[in-house]
Amino acid sequence: AKPVVAVVGRPNVGKSTLFNKLIGRRLSIVEDTPGVTRDRIYSDCNWGGRTFMLVDTGGIEPQSDDIILSHIRRQAQLAISSADVIVLVTDLRDGVTATDQEVAAMLHKSGRPVVLCVNKCDSVGEVPAELYEFYNLGLGDPIAVSSVHGHGTGDLLDAVVDQL
Ligand code: GDP
Ligand code: MG
Repeated sequence: AKPVVAVVGRPNVGKSTLFNKLIGRRLSIVEDTPGVTRDRIYSDCNWGGRTFMLVDTGGIEPQSDDIILSHIRRQAQLAISSADVIVLVTDLRDGVTATDQEVAAMLHKSGRPVVLCVNKCDSVGEVPAELYEFYNLGLGDPIAVSSVHGHGTGDLLDAVVDQL
């Protein structure tokens, strides 16, 4: 069977934007207001001669803090049980949040391979100082990505394919 790669993370970090950029078309819905990804969305993705199934796990995302936490716990649990590699998406502008820490701990404990994506790194050519904070999640090297511009997506896909 084709390996499955799941994209997880808090609402509004850019999971659907990343998903669309990686598959090269707009299949997942991106909105300025969180909460609009219809369901789990799947697509084939090819990189470096490998094919895998990429999943945007966003689903219908809640907006209030207490619900977000239980939602993302479920999302992470699902990814842990069904994905071969998990891409945890975070947001450079928000820094590391308590929810990021909790999800990272769940993923780490599961022993599943995780690739840590720090999204919204929109400036080219410089490593933002804020990136280093993400090492604290204990998931290895954070990969700086701009899903809107596409910067860093090649490095991200290299890291994913390395874990397949
Ligand atoms: P999701 O809820 O995690 O699926 O996030 P979305 O993909 O729907 O994106 C939420 C918002 O973040 C939208 O307004 C996107 O345009 C914006 N966004 C996503 N990726 C980037 C990025 O790399 N840079 C910037 N500046 N904005 C982004
Ligand atoms: Mg989404």
